[in-house]
Amino acid sequence: MAQELMAPPVTRGPVGLPVLSVLGTSEGGGCGTSCGSGCGSGASRKAAAAEGEPGVQIPFARRRLKLSAVPTSGTAVTNIDMDLTVECNLRCTYCFKEKWNEHMEEQVAFDTIVWLLHASGSARSVNVNFMGGEPLIRFRMIQKLVPFAKRRAAEHGKSIHFGMTTNGTLVTDEVVAFWKKWGLGFHTSIDGTPEIQDQNRPTTGGRGSSRLVAKAVPKILAYRQGTTARSTVVAASAGSVYESYRYFRDLGYTSIAFVPGGNTEWNDDSIAIYEGQFRRIGDDVIEEMRQGRVVNVKGIDEFIEGHIRQSRHKHACGAGRGMVLIDIHGDIWPCHRWNKEKEASWRIGSIYEQFDDAARSILDQPDHGVLLEQNCAICPAQNFCTGGCPAENLEETGAVYRRHRNACELTRVWARVGLHVHDTLKAESNPTFLTRFYKAG
Ligand code: SF4
Ligand code: SF4
Repeated sequence: MAQELMAPPVTRGPVGLPVLSVLGTSEGGGCGTSCGSGCGSGASRKAAAAEGEPGVQIPFARRRLKLSAVPTSGTAVTNIDMDLTVECNLRCTYCFKEKWNEHMEEQVAFDTIVWLLHASGSARSVNVNFMGGEPLIRFRMIQKLVPFAKRRAAEHGKSIHFGMTTNGTLVTDEVVAFWKKWGLGFHTSIDGTPEIQDQNRPTTGGRGSSRLVAKAVPKILAYRQGTTARSTVVAASAGSVYESYRYFRDLGYTSIAFVPGGNTEWNDDSIAIYEGQFRRIGDDVIEEMRQGRVVNVKGIDEFIEGHIRQSRHKHACGAGRGMVLIDIHGDIWPCHRWNKEKEASWRIGSIYEQFDDAARSILDQPDHGVLLEQNCAICPAQNFCTGGCPAENLEETGAVYRRHRNACELTRVWARVGLHVHDTLKAESNPTFLTRFYKAG
């Protein structure tokens, strides 16, 4: 009994599931037909074995958070991604989520917070990033969850911080007021010019989403000027990266990330086009620095910092180490890219069942860099590249520490442009550059 604890009773969400899976998405990750009913059950599932055995459905009302389902060895979990829903109002062409229109039950959300406070051990500070689907679809629940979490964390002598990865289309004045009140951080996923955004990120109804995003951006930047515009660049849109960069700058973004996606779709020609575009961005960054303005561009900044540091970080990310994803059922995964049916073997456990230290051991390593199969010692990116996204590597090469050739080539584009920006501004003893990167002045 000492191992069990339930957060205060809460009101069920509008799309609550009567039963939840014990075994994760491979066994019961929701209705595989995407019918949208959120039934989560079915004849074959009802016929599962008796309770307590693999494949069993436990009625939601009888589930209890298991406080022993936390790491017993290795790194304590201090950061979680939290899938509040798998539903999204967009249908991005490259999305890796398997949608079936289910929400996280409110009780699971509250239990997840309590679980994190225990899984973090002696750490004094923990972080939660709301994800989805589109997390703002669950704004009403977020409004209840955040105050609860702040109170409960204080009772544990901890502080808890919240962030969100949102597509920006549902940002209203009420949302921004809530963000301000509770100090939430966030990333906005936005692909580029209206044309690119509409092409890559249509709504469920097939309309473009750019007009919704353009309406939200001024509200977002008025709240946090440094919010990052994160764009996923696919090979087909490589030639419009610079135009998108200008669009972001015109909107007022000063932190911009163009992250290549779908590495297997790239080839030498599209990579060359991307490099040409990224060089133009590098030249703009140089010009803005000459005028005393700092624009943070992912890839350029990382290269320069690594070049000055002369060593790479040990980890690409915290996936499966200090960070995990809690999915809508309370199942634990290395991160938000790792809860697909075909990756079921990567499931770490459930907040209602167990935390399997062995399942994450391949990720909970002291140094990812030394495990990479690439010959990084001769690569111009060696001081900042930590081997890319392990989940992406797994999808593209079948191994978390083996990168796709195109992924390495695209990272080297960042290195070459970053070196050009560094050398140009350093040679000029540009004061804005030296203050930003060498902490001079
Ligand atoms: S780009 Fe590839 S070869 Fe270069 S440092 Fe990164 S993983 Fe190693
Ligand atoms: S595995 Fe990839 S997607 Fe997951 S946290 Fe790491 S970098 Fe991000």
